[in-house]
Amino acid sequence: MLHKIQAEKFGSRGEGMAHAVEACVHCGFCLPTCPTYLTMGEEMDSPRGRIFLMKEVLEGNLSVDQAAPYVDRCLGCLACETSCPSGVRYGHLISPYRAYAQKNRKNNLFQKTFRWLLMESLPHPGRFRFLLQMAVFSRPLQGLLPRMLRSPLSLLPKTIPKEDDLPEIFPAKGDQRARVALLTGCAQQVLAPEINRATLRVLSENGVEVVIPKSQGCCGALAMHLGEVERAKISARKNLEVFENAGPLDAIVTNAAGCGSGLSEYRDLFHGEPEEERAKNLFALVQDVSLFLHNLGLKKPSGWPEPRKIAYHDACHLSHAQGVREAPRELLRSIPNLILMEPLEWEVCCGSAGTYNLEHPETADLLGQRKAKNLADTGADAVATGNIGCLVQVRNQLEKTGSNIHVFHTMQILEEAYRNGA
Ligand code: SF4
Ligand code: SF4
Repeated sequence: MLHKIQAEKFGSRGEGMAHAVEACVHCGFCLPTCPTYLTMGEEMDSPRGRIFLMKEVLEGNLSVDQAAPYVDRCLGCLACETSCPSGVRYGHLISPYRAYAQKNRKNNLFQKTFRWLLMESLPHPGRFRFLLQMAVFSRPLQGLLPRMLRSPLSLLPKTIPKEDDLPEIFPAKGDQRARVALLTGCAQQVLAPEINRATLRVLSENGVEVVIPKSQGCCGALAMHLGEVERAKISARKNLEVFENAGPLDAIVTNAAGCGSGLSEYRDLFHGEPEEERAKNLFALVQDVSLFLHNLGLKKPSGWPEPRKIAYHDACHLSHAQGVREAPRELLRSIPNLILMEPLEWEVCCGSAGTYNLEHPETADLLGQRKAKNLADTGADAVATGNIGCLVQVRNQLEKTGSNIHVFHTMQILEEAYRNGA
């Protein structure tokens, strides 16, 4: 029954959806790792509950709007995939379902405007920077705004960093060992341009030449997350062309887990379409920078004269969506005098999850506070992570608790460890 409905409504992607539904044996092993189940304790806010709800909608027993509150609260963190012993690919269900639901639901004017604002600003660094500058300027008026608008503003940095105009080629230091292209990340290049700089220096230090194509655009992850599949395809087609024209590459490296996972989804996005082969070729090249350096063999950094305790925070889109857990830890462990600390509940999302902390600020705050406590309890001096969204969320949540623990990208820690020996 479900297979038939899927094929009619979703074409080739329907197969993945049907598999996800049918592979679920309702065992509940995923429940303790699901952040919404952990915080709300409701079956319908668990992976098992959501799989059931989506199935009911697809079989016509429930309307999209009836299921919407529960499906909307899903962070898309994919912790349920990591913990599922039956191999349920929840991501194969939720992504196409969201695209379907987006077309068939009744959004109110506020929701429509908010989503439009996100789509028209975040993936465009120039517009995003302008919007942030306006928001920072109007910070004194924040108290007059409704909660829904106040929460995103509370995530803003105190000042907006200066734009960093990256070169098109960043040369390798010494003998060249590899040539890669870097995806610079829309929000990251505005909020923390120093992360891309640090990444370039670390890659260069390791004998890697980096090409940074000027015409690259948003990876499309935001559009996918919001169920705007046609918009996501426009971004994806552009990037396919840009990276195909970047010359011979050993990898396309990403340093924002959300973007890396977005690029990796092109294969599914174009499943059964003319671009499928090209998307597969791109997928074969995409690697998080930590995994790329680990596989290449990291040049030993000098480290620090005194021991430093660094806690590692797993970004869901790196650990669950891309399965990259050990590589960043190994890189950090290779730094002399770095003591790697592991927080409790490594697998539980910090509440950032793309635009989740903008759309569901209360749940995001609960999760953020839980994460901040677990990280602070390690006794670490600083936190390392591999995603700009997590970095902003964890930094803000730690600040709220009065903690002075700084949060860095893993590449920033490595860059400092090399600089110390220069
Ligand atoms: S662990 Fe897997 S099979 Fe079990 S309820 Fe969760 S999704 Fe279904
Ligand atoms: S993706 Fe995350 S929030 Fe959504 S059901 Fe799975 S574990 Fe829960």
